[in-house]
Amino acid sequence: MEAIEKSGIDELYNKLKSKEMQHLMKIHSEIRKALHLFFTKKMFYEISPVIVAPITDPLNHPVYKASVDYYGFPYGLTQSMIFHKQIALLSYDKVFIFSPNVRLEPVERGSTGRHLAEFTQVDIEMKDVTREHVMDLAEDMFIYTTKEVSETCKEDLEYFGRKLQIPGKPFRRYSYIDEKNRYGNDFDMILSKKEKNPFWIVDIPLMEREFYDREYENKEGILVDMDMYYPEGFGEAISGGEREYEYDKILTRISKKGQTEEQFKYYLEFAKKGLPRTAGFGIGVERLTRYITGFDRIEEVVPFPRIINKFSF
Ligand code: ASP
Ligand code: MG
Repeated sequence: MEAIEKSGIDELYNKLKSKEMQHLMKIHSEIRKALHLFFTKKMFYEISPVIVAPITDPLNHPVYKASVDYYGFPYGLTQSMIFHKQIALLSYDKVFIFSPNVRLEPVERGSTGRHLAEFTQVDIEMKDVTREHVMDLAEDMFIYTTKEVSETCKEDLEYFGRKLQIPGKPFRRYSYIDEKNRYGNDFDMILSKKEKNPFWIVDIPLMEREFYDREYENKEGILVDMDMYYPEGFGEAISGGEREYEYDKILTRISKKGQTEEQFKYYLEFAKKGLPRTAGFGIGVERLTRYITGFDRIEEVVPFPRIINKFSF
């Protein structure tokens, strides 16, 4: 097993006392405020985050399991609130959560500059809307947030020499399969480095994604989902899509992914009773802060990062 090192206390102490961290904290805080305002103005209800639960996002890549046994019941730490936000729409048709996610990524991911073992995701979900609708909403959210922060944090951004471009709508779209054929496995990062504005990658193949994103009725093996990317090589910003909500289809999708009904039994009990038809997305707040401030690495932009390959205070 690869070792992880302990991060230095002196280094952290100095970082927290720096002028840089003061500017970063302000920008990060204004980003959160703008996101919050954006969704509440659009009549979304904010719900409390779920931090431990018997079921969480299975993710599409291996991570360390973070779970505890509570009087014989299994509680795992939330990797994303995908299932809870979908089920919350039994009550009201537009919700968002500032959701702490714990993803104990393997050490190799420490080198990407955009992964943390714990982060906050603004997770949103809406009832009876299409992917187009949530993509349009995400574009408005991005434009609103960058505009707000450019105004409220003018001097702070100047301190970092960062001038934000406010993109026009709609953002450019690329097909996952076409671009992968053209550029190979790193196609997304190649595009992210070439592009000057945020863009979308759409129609992701079924095996590249978790079982919960909806498969096209008329395009087998392709999902009605999307990722948004930042330009300038900052990489992935958003994941989202329409969701499977019909019990039988969910079972089929679980089995196509080689997963078991047992793994998702708590969710399936809800699905059997009937789930709303929903679409949504999640955006990482630290990644957005990194993009807005233009920093090299995500752990530089927040005071207490859970760094992938370092044991942190
Ligand atoms: N919650 C999902 C994730 O963490 C994003 C989404 O599809 O809404 O990837
Ligand atoms: Mg993703």
